Order: sequence, then C-alpha cells, then structure tokens
Amino acid sequence: MNPPKKPRSPKKTLIYYYIIVLLAIFLVNSLLIPLFSTPESENVTYNTFIDMLQNDELKEVEVRDQDNVIVFTTNDEADKIYMTNRVDDPDLTNRLLDHDVVFTTIWPNPPSRFWTTILPLVLMVGLSVWMFRSMQKRMNAGAMSFGKSGAKIYAETETGKTFADVAGEDEAKEALKEIVDFLHDPGKYAAIGARLPKGALLVGPPGTGKTLLAKAVAGEAHVPFFSISGSEFVEMFVGMGAAKVRDLFKQATEKAPCIVFIDEIDTIGKRRDNAAGVGGNDEREQTLNQLLTEMDGFDGKKGVVILAATNRPEILDKALLRPGRFDRRIPVELPDLAGREAILKVHAKNVKMAPDIDYNAVARATAGSSGADLANIVNEGALRAVRQGRSLVRQDDLEESVEVVLAGYQRKNAVISPKEKKIIAYHEVGHALVAAKQTDSAPVHKITIIPRTSGALGYTMQVDEGEHVLMNRDEVYNKIATLTGGRAAEELIFNQITTGASNDIEQATRLARAMITRYGMTNSFDMVALETVNNQYLGGDTSLACSQETAAKIDEEVVRIVRSAHEKAQGILKENAAKLNELAQYLLERETITGEEFMEILNR
Ligand code: ADP
Ligand code: MG
Ligand code: ZN
Repeated sequence: MNPPKKPRSPKKTLIYYYIIVLLAIFLVNSLLIPLFSTPESENVTYNTFIDMLQNDELKEVEVRDQDNVIVFTTNDEADKIYMTNRVDDPDLTNRLLDHDVVFTTIWPNPPSRFWTTILPLVLMVGLSVWMFRSMQKRMNAGAMSFGKSGAKIYAETETGKTFADVAGEDEAKEALKEIVDFLHDPGKYAAIGARLPKGALLVGPPGTGKTLLAKAVAGEAHVPFFSISGSEFVEMFVGMGAAKVRDLFKQATEKAPCIVFIDEIDTIGKRRDNAAGVGGNDEREQTLNQLLTEMDGFDGKKGVVILAATNRPEILDKALLRPGRFDRRIPVELPDLAGREAILKVHAKNVKMAPDIDYNAVARATAGSSGADLANIVNEGALRAVRQGRSLVRQDDLEESVEVVLAGYQRKNAVISPKEKKIIAYHEVGHALVAAKQTDSAPVHKITIIPRTSGALGYTMQVDEGEHVLMNRDEVYNKIATLTGGRAAEELIFNQITTGASNDIEQATRLARAMITRYGMTNSFDMVALETVNNQYLGGDTSLACSQETAAKIDEEVVRIVRSAHEKAQGILKENAAKLNELAQYLLERETITGEEFMEILNR
C-alpha cells in the first residue's frame, strides 16, 4: 500500500481554484459568446423582403407564427439577420420555394449585445468574487475541514473559553497553567533551553470537562485551536488517517504557537499487541504510527502543544506514553461537593435564576455526577420553568431536574397496582430507615415512589453531608446493610420477597467482594490484592488474581458479610416497626418525602 498523495493545503487549493475560474471566463468569452451574439440585425419592410426575394438574395428563412415575424439571412452577409413583420400573404410559401430558399430555424431572436456579452461576464466575475469571499471567511474564523478525507480538522482562531468557564478541577488547571505560559511566550523557555512536554494527556471519566479544559488552554493563551476526534478516523479509507494526521501537524506548525487537540485518542491509540484482524487494524495502526512520527519529528520549541483526551488510559499503546510524547498525564476527576456547587453556579450564569437558589443543596443531592450532568440539570430546570410559563428558574425546578437527569423522566402514566405501590413504599422506607439509624451512614435527602423511565420504581437519594474520600470499614459495612434494608422491610411487613431488590443485591455483592479482594478489610485475607481493576473509569470491571480455591473462599466470605449485614438491617427495622409503618404510610400518600419530613417523623 502506498501512502496517498498529500492533501493540498488550503492556500494551494485557492490558487488552483483561481486558475480554473479564469480559464472558465476565458472559455466562455472566446467560445460561447460569439455563438450567442449574432453581430447585427436589421428590421426591413415587407416590400424590401419581397424585393430581396425576387433578386435571389435570400439564403435561409424562418417564419415565426407566434411572433408574427419573418426572420431571414442573405447570401451576401451570412452573419446578419434581417427581420420583417409578417403580412397576410397566401402566396408566400410558393414564392419562397420558387427561389430555392432554405426553410430553417434561425436562432435566436436577434439578441442585444448586452445580454450576450456583458451579462455572463458580470455573472462570472460576481460569482467568483462571492466564492472567494466566503472561502476567505471560512479560512479566518470558525470550523473548516481541510483536504479530502473524511475526518474533519476543526480550526478555531479563538475558542472563547477561559479557565473561568471550567469550575473546580483546580489541580488540572494548575497543571495546564504552565502550558498556557509557554504558549504566551515560547521564546522565554527556548532562551534557557527548557523544553516543555510536547504532549499532555487529559485523563478522566466522560463529561468531566476535558474538551472544555483543552479549549480553555487555547483561549487563555490566545492561540489557535486545532482539534480532531479519534473516533472519526475509524470510518476512514485506508491511508486517509495517516494523511489526515500529517495534514493536521502541517497546519499546526504553520500556525504555531497553537494547540492541537486529539479527542478520544484511545480509538486510534489502542495497544497494538492485540491480535489484528484481517486488515481491520491496519488503518488504525498506520494512523497511530503517523501520529508517533509526527510527534517525534516536530520541534518542541516552536510552540505547538498537543493535548489529548481519553477516558480509557489503560488501553493506550505504551509508545504513546513514552517521554517526548504524551508523558504528562493530567487527571480530570469527577467534581467534589464544592466543585459541583461551582459548576452549577457557572452554568446558572446563563440562565435567569430566582435569587434564593440553594446551590449547595442541589450539589449535595448530585454526588457522583459529572460536569456535563450538572450542566444538563441546570438546562432541564430552565426548560421546566419555560414549560410552566415562568420567567425565573426556582429551586423546585432544579430539584426536579436532578431526578430527571439522574433517574430518567417521570413516568406519569405508569400503571402500578396499589398493592405494588405499597410494597415499593415499604421497600424504600426500609432503605432510608436503616440508613438513618446507623449513625455512620448518610441521612436521606429525599425518597420518591414516582416511577422513572429509567426503570427504577422508587428512589432513595442519600446525601453525604461532607465529601468522603475514604470510607472506613464500618461505613462500607453499613452501606451494605442499607442496601439490604429494602428487602428486609418487604420480609418484615409482607412476609414475602419480590424481584424489586435485584439492583440492591448487585451493589451489596460488589461492595462486599471489594471489601475482601480490594480493600483488605477482612481478617481471612488481610492485605492481599485478589482482584485487579481493568478499567478505572468506565464501569470498573475487575478480574480475579487468585487460585480457584481462594476464589471459592472469597465467595463464601461474600455470603457471610452480606448475610450478617442483612440480619443487622432486619434487626433495625424490627425495632422500629412503628416508624416504618408511619413513614411508609406518609410516603404512600404523598409519593415523595423530603429528608426534613423524614427526620421530623422519625424523631417525634
Ligand atoms: P469531556 O470532554 O470530559 O467528556 P466535556 O468537556 O465535553 O467533557 O464537557 C461537556 C460539558 O459539560 C461542557 O461543555 C460543560 O458545559 C460541562 N462541564 C463539564 N465539566 C465542567 C466544569 N468543570 N465546569 C463547567 N462546566 C463543565
Ligand atoms: Mg470530550
Ligand atoms: Zn432497593
């Protein structure tokens, strides 16, 4: 396979374009216009026409019934067209035939010079000026795709984003500030001989603002921003990906200092050792090789900084992470409580908010959400306000949209029998009561038994008062007990169990297993890592790293932990059966119960 020809740079394309337009104008002028323009025409009287006919001067004749004229040419001047008004002359045809005149179509109406020569010229010139203008405009601002291959390189002269648009993420911003400074004044670094990393890798879960941060770096430094997404390479023809990368770096070097941003780099930067399908991975490999070549090839002092983003750093090819390539790794984590509040406020700036919004409360209810989720929550809140014909977004709009975004839209018309509704209410209160009664466990924020489109029948929102980075053993264990609280309530009240606890069971099992295999929280296995996490950011699936016998023992231990937590939950509920009934009745009536209402009933 030969690498394809280099795609042309836009400047060259422009020159080619000009030559083509000039050629076209020339062609039209020299070939077409003479055809259209019949040089002269003359109106003559019918008498003259008859005279000329008698003298055998006529060559061709066209009788135009619709215009009621006769158009003709003479033998002397082939180019000249004569015209005369038609007169009612029944003999005409015979006379014409007698004189050997050719009947034909003489095209067209004798046109005037203006329409045949000036107008096309004006049109051509106008068109080319317009095309040139619009092309220039696209060159100067906004996104433009270069070359012929499918993947688009987006170029922005000014991203318009700054670090102020990125809330929280202070560590990431701190790490990127040096790059901004470098882009401001590459000379300063070159003078000392310092060399900044050519590339930095933004690593973190989806929606945490990696793309936003990359744009903010370009915005802060007032340099152009070239971006391309790895996933766009996937659908491309063989060889195009490599060409695209070459093109990208050529553009960037011309515009230095600037930022080159490769989003979703994992799609091209996947480790190369996994078995290549027939030809399937060739393309990706070529693209990756080209990327590595380009990164090695260009001069780091020029002021081109390459940023890349991924949420799967562990699958990246080692070659990408070597010194001189993406050797700086910048974690972009999910926001903490303060970060969430700040993000909410950043997005609230663009929306008309009621003055008394409690952002902290919303932030506390959204543990684990990404910046993108929070941006979405603010927007959903604004949409709800519009739907209800209000001009300000209120607290309840935001609280509703928290549920919309985190749990799916309310399923207003879902049919649930009263009996099922009762079971769901007890189940949810069971979770909440167990959580509230264990001092170390977080209190509830809100319980609702309005079903969501996501499939959750009820929903207990637990809120951590402070942000937890660490969980101690009791807290993990209590969390498992809380998870079993729903099922425990069903058992206690209905003496029957349902399928409604499947998600709880899954979570409880995962936690108990992690206590043993990853957190070293059991005596039997001490601090031995029995599992490794394959993918930290997506799903966090794990694989066992122990013998079969140990695996069997782990399973036993998991059962032991979950059973004991389950019994603890049953005990708590039995002791507080009266409160369980009272709270469940309240929830059944109102469908929603807030944390304050819950604690009020519990403590009275
Ligand atoms: P990623 O690239 O990490 O998947 P994005 O940068 O595309 O995430 O973020 C998507 C959107 O979420 C952003 O456009 C922004 O509106 C919002 N967002 C994410 N993180 C933040 C943050 N830290 N501050 C403000 N907005 C954020
Ligand atoms: Mg992104
Ligand atoms: Zn449950």
